[in-house]
Amino acid sequence: MTTGADPRLAGGRLTIDLDALVANWQLLAEKSLPAQTSAVVKADAYGLGIIHVVPALWQAGCRTFFVALAEEGLRVRAVAPDARVFVLNGFFSEALPVYEESDLIPVLGSLQELDLWRSLNAKRKDKLPFALHVDTGMNRLGVTLDEALAFAADRRNDKPILLMTHLATADDRAHALNDRQIQSFHKLRAAFSGIESSIANSPGIFHSGVGEYELSRPGVAMYGGEPFSGGANPMRHVVTLEARIVQIRTGRKGETVGYGATARLGRDTRIAVCSVGYADGYLRSASGSGVPLRGTVLNGGEGFVAGSKVPVLGRITMDLTSFDITDLPVDAVRPGDYIELFGQNVPLDDAARAAGTIGYELLTSLGTRYHRRYLKSESN
Ligand SMILES: *Cc1c(COP(=O)(O)O)cnc(C)c1O
Repeated sequence: MTTGADPRLAGGRLTIDLDALVANWQLLAEKSLPAQTSAVVKADAYGLGIIHVVPALWQAGCRTFFVALAEEGLRVRAVAPDARVFVLNGFFSEALPVYEESDLIPVLGSLQELDLWRSLNAKRKDKLPFALHVDTGMNRLGVTLDEALAFAADRRNDKPILLMTHLATADDRAHALNDRQIQSFHKLRAAFSGIESSIANSPGIFHSGVGEYELSRPGVAMYGGEPFSGGANPMRHVVTLEARIVQIRTGRKGETVGYGATARLGRDTRIAVCSVGYADGYLRSASGSGVPLRGTVLNGGEGFVAGSKVPVLGRITMDLTSFDITDLPVDAVRPGDYIELFGQNVPLDDAARAAGTIGYELLTSLGTRYHRRYLKSESN
């Protein structure tokens, strides 16, 4: 299925392999056993499109989804009428009718939110379900450990249907905070006995000791991102981003390329000028030269075309990016050809590192101007 811009008119194309995404989810589900596995589809399924990703996962057996915002929850509900949908980012009272009507479950993460929820539910016979987020070391969302233990001890309180916490350093397996968080969660779990509990994000699934919890919550690894730093990525690549080559020109030795004249040519250089830029989420910090980020100049991005990797040349601009294709055989590429910016040959996380960031940010920055293709076999 294809969406987005008309392929005849678009500057770039984004190919999303839903079979690979499902295979990744299945691998994570296997690794999570005996826990069940949900899917985190916030930020429009990490930029890939809730309306495509959620039905594919539902078909594969995923029954629980997490989003950041209720607005995103509605989009999940529209394509998965029977799913359990948790909304991570807190709760405001004016949203209650929407939660009720669309059967969304808030993840409450402060005493204020718990009080608010209690007062809104006080007169109801059929109490609305909620999840409780406990902070065990991240200092982002969640009640404190002590608050949670006090909440559990007070019998007047309604019980959450899910108890969860979030790991701050799961991608770094050696970090001492992991064990501290897991131990705190262990204590909590004893206080909330009989209640489903959830701790592992993508990297957490690869830790020993977190599989015993009932529900894992992978995001990035499903989408092909590295679940931990260092070591080979065990996930299949899901997303391929390609841009069209608009023209091929020759710059002469001694000339410069692009804004700021930051790239000076040390040789006569064939330049492929491609229809992609930072307005499309191809981040300016991946420029081959001259864009310092926090004091360092990053190596810059690489494209892949005609069987070879080629470096970004000069600054990435809003709509155009140049690559040095001098080392390719003459006539290997032509205007209209596509150059891969990340995918099978340029791993997502390598492209991200070249821009000083992480795969999550590249995916969620993907622009709206691409032609989008979703690959899916009939069998799943
Ligand atoms: C985003 C998020 C996840 C998923 O994290 P990944 O690292 O993408 O697997 C899980 N839980 C919470 C609370 C999150 O905010």
